Amino acid sequence: MAKLSGKIALVTGGTSGIGLATAKRFIEEGAFVFITGRSRESVDKALSELGEQAQGIRADVTKREDLRLIVEAIEKRSERLDILVMSAGIADYSPLVETSEAHFDKTFDTNARAPLFVMKEVLPLMPSGASVVLIGSIAGFIGTAGYGAYGASKAALRAYARTWTNELSERGIRVNVVSPGPIDTPMFDAVSEEVRKSVSDLIPLRRLGKPEEVAAAALFLASDESSFIAGSELCIDGGMAQV
Ligand code: NDP
Repeated sequence: MAKLSGKIALVTGGTSGIGLATAKRFIEEGAFVFITGRSRESVDKALSELGEQAQGIRADVTKREDLRLIVEAIEKRSERLDILVMSAGIADYSPLVETSEAHFDKTFDTNARAPLFVMKEVLPLMPSGASVVLIGSIAGFIGTAGYGAYGASKAALRAYARTWTNELSERGIRVNVVSPGPIDTPMFDAVSEEVRKSVSDLIPLRRLGKPEEVAAAALFLASDESSFIAGSELCIDGGMAQV
């Protein structure tokens, strides 16, 4: 039986990688899915893969005026939002000594600031039983060299999940984090074969993860299968940060 039959979901960053795989899986499980991305082009390309059970919203999550577009689109079609997955994110490399204020601000604006304000905007649309899945990263707690601002921005999501769980439990809204390890998405496209191999060697399962494997975890936390799980973090990392 479909696990998300009749549910309405929003996947930020649903145009690529983990977000796109999650949108696809949710649709397979019976949901209607709104996706966001920064350009009309990337949104339309994803929609051509997702079909009629998806609607695209061109919205930059760092821009407050674009957040209104998201809310208006959902209100117009469905008036409620059962599932929110926040996957929009960037992971630019910058060792401490090279880190500029611009790098820090862009990383935090996208990965930490935007999820809070997306959540604040769509919260009035969320009924009891709604589920929020924040896409974090094991970089939020393992300390990956060159990813200080990125790791700190992802650690913020873990703090949100804990705080929002306490703030929203009376409304029946669950919040959890999915923290991937290295996953083979377009975020990894610029990485050489040599680096891929050395990253794979750090993972007990000796390979990069697939976006579909993260989508399966997002599905579990979004669905009623996880009805007694709140404020938690589920790592999808081939064991990298676990052993
Ligand atoms: P991709 O680069 O494939 O996808 C990133 C997505 O984020 C795109 O859909 C992009 O949309 C969207 N996005 C970026 N900035 C914005 C913005 N300002 N407004 C709206 N959308 C935005 O990356 P992944 O799928 O790999 O990453 C998804 C999430 O998973 C990220 O949060 C990342 O930090 C996290 N993660 C990824 C890992 C990996 O190894 N791949 C490991 C751990 C965590 P568009 O380009 O259309 O604007």
